[in-house]
Order: sequence, then C-alpha cells, then structure tokens
Amino acid sequence: MADKILPKDKTEGFIQALGRKFVVVAPVERKDAPAEFKEIGAGDKVILDGSQMMMPPKDYLLPRYETLLKVSTRPGEVEVQPVLPDEKPRVMLGMWLPDAQAIQVLDKVFLEGKFRDPYYAARRANTMLVAVMPAQMRWSWFCASTDDVEKWKPNVDAIMYDLGDRFYIEVTSPRGEALVEWEGLAEPSSEDVAGKDRLWEQFKSHGVLPFSDGKFYEQLAWDHPIWAEIAQKCIGCGVCSYMCPSCSCFDIQDEVCGTCVERYRCRDTCQFEDFTLMGSGHNPRPDQLPRSRQRLMHKFKYQHEQYGVVGCTGCGRCVELCPVNVDIREVLNKVCAEKEPEPAV
Ligand code: SF4
Ligand code: SF4
Repeated sequence: MADKILPKDKTEGFIQALGRKFVVVAPVERKDAPAEFKEIGAGDKVILDGSQMMMPPKDYLLPRYETLLKVSTRPGEVEVQPVLPDEKPRVMLGMWLPDAQAIQVLDKVFLEGKFRDPYYAARRANTMLVAVMPAQMRWSWFCASTDDVEKWKPNVDAIMYDLGDRFYIEVTSPRGEALVEWEGLAEPSSEDVAGKDRLWEQFKSHGVLPFSDGKFYEQLAWDHPIWAEIAQKCIGCGVCSYMCPSCSCFDIQDEVCGTCVERYRCRDTCQFEDFTLMGSGHNPRPDQLPRSRQRLMHKFKYQHEQYGVVGCTGCGRCVELCPVNVDIREVLNKVCAEKEPEPAV
C-alpha cells in the first residue's frame, strides 16, 4: 500500500482535503482539560501528534450523555421518536494506537453477538481510524504486555508516525488508500522508512512487564488477597473506568419534561456504589472490594473468555490519573508473580 509523508506545515491543508470527503473527528485542545475528540470546525486547534493526555476516542462513538428517544403525548396519542445519529463517512484522526485497539473491544460489545446497538453502529459504520505513533512513548504505556501489538495494525486504516517535522503515514488497510490521495503528500525516503520502523520497534518493546510472560488472564483468582489491598486505597471515584478507552458501561434513565419524556443514557461504572444497587435495597457489591475485583476480572478474564480479547490495551490512563496511585501494572505483576509454578526439584 502507498505510504506517504505529510510535512507538518501542510497539516492544515491535509485536514481540509480530508474534510471535503469525510467528517473529520480529531482531538481538539480545551482550556485546562485534556483534548477531546470532536467533529472539527473553524477555529479548533487539533492535536495530531499524540504527545499529550487526551480523552478517549470512545467519547465520540459512545458519548458520555446521549438522548436515545423522545416520547410525546397528546390526548389519545403517544408518539415515540428514536434519535439516531446520522451514518456519514467519517475519519477519526490522532488517537493513540491502544485507543484504536480499544475500539475493537467496544465493537465486540456493541456490534457483535445477540444485541447490536444502533446508536454506536450508526457512528461506527463508515468510520475510518487513523492512529498516531508519538515521537516519545508514553511512560505509562504497557500495550505490548497486553497483546501481540503486530495484530493491531490491520484494525486501523492508517498510522501516522511522528518523525519530527513530518508525519510518516503508513496505510494499513485497502480503504485507508483514500486518506492519502491528496497531492500535498510526498513519497517517503529510505530514511523516513527507517524512522517509522524505529518508532514501531520502540512501541513493540516499550512497557513490557514481567506479567506478560504468560496467559495472565488465567491467573486472576476471585479470592486473591490483592482485591482487599486495592480496596483499602481506592476511593471509588470512577476515573479509571470513565477515562478507559474500552470501558463500556452505561445507565439509562427517563426524564419527564411536561408532556414529553426523554430517554437518555449516560456513562456509568462498576466502581460506583449504586451501579449494582437493586430496587429492593440489596447490593451484591456492597463495598469497594468486589467493585475493584470486578473491574480487573472483567477486563482481564471475563472479556477474554467471552470475546477472546483482553479488555485492556495498556493505554496507561488509569495509571496516570488514579488519585490514590492504584497502578494496574503493579497489580498484575503481583498476581502473576505469586501464581508462578514452583520450579521442578
Ligand atoms: S484498564 Fe487502564 S491501562 Fe487498560 S485500557 Fe483501561 S485505562 Fe488503559
Ligand atoms: S481511579 Fe483509583 S481511586 Fe478512582 S475508582 Fe479507580 S482505582 Fe479507585
């Protein structure tokens, strides 16, 4: 496939050219908050080099708050109106590769199996994914510990490698060819190819932790003492799952406004007390221990059993943002170290 070079001073022209064919979604700078994925408009400052913390791209595909349907009533009449997003050709730029892989996890949840979510499906259909490989690997990444990252490449349509004053655009799917048709792009030199390969090798060897030496998803035990250790520190703020690019839980509520009812869904997390609170007042996860256990068992064990993928792609957000420094890497290292088989005598 035809790889290309995008000089950084031509980035604006490149985005404008894409905008003539697609709705362009990218991380946009915000004041005092991480960049957020949105459909870009005039005056938006787009951050394409992956160099800083950003909200996960799931915020666009699975918004934090979304109206699902509206019901209006008149005497003798009830009208139900679904509020489905438009299906339109889109390209999502600027996401870290582990975030792009996390979208594969969301696809399993929302598109495959018994239930297909029409809201997620409408945004995901015809959406191309372009990942970015930043010049510096992020200190908290441990992607190569969670999976064989070579398998991730065909799940995106292109990867933009930051080579300083230019991006190397590696086209990784046939439909990704449509992204590099702009005449402002150049052919890569052998030096460019070497630079791209160097960054890829860095990514593959970055953050490889001891627990990656085995099938760690088989080593998490329901009764492991680590859950109590996490629960002692955890304050149940939910940041780890709100910011996680693959966490997918939501709540659905109805809001009454006069003669109309609006049904919406909003993000939710297993880290909150009322997530499992039943109408009877019973809560099967009454304190933080079972909630902490659920988060990790779900990501690393249940999702693997259910879909054949690990629900964590090592993006490091929960490592960086947990206010009490619960470090998922340490947790997994501990669990796996303790479960290693005794050496033969
Ligand atoms: S569990 Fe943590 S490291 Fe893994 S994908 Fe979610 S936020 Fe990233
Ligand atoms: S971010 Fe940390 S404190 Fe907050 S719920 Fe997650 S583990 Fe607990």
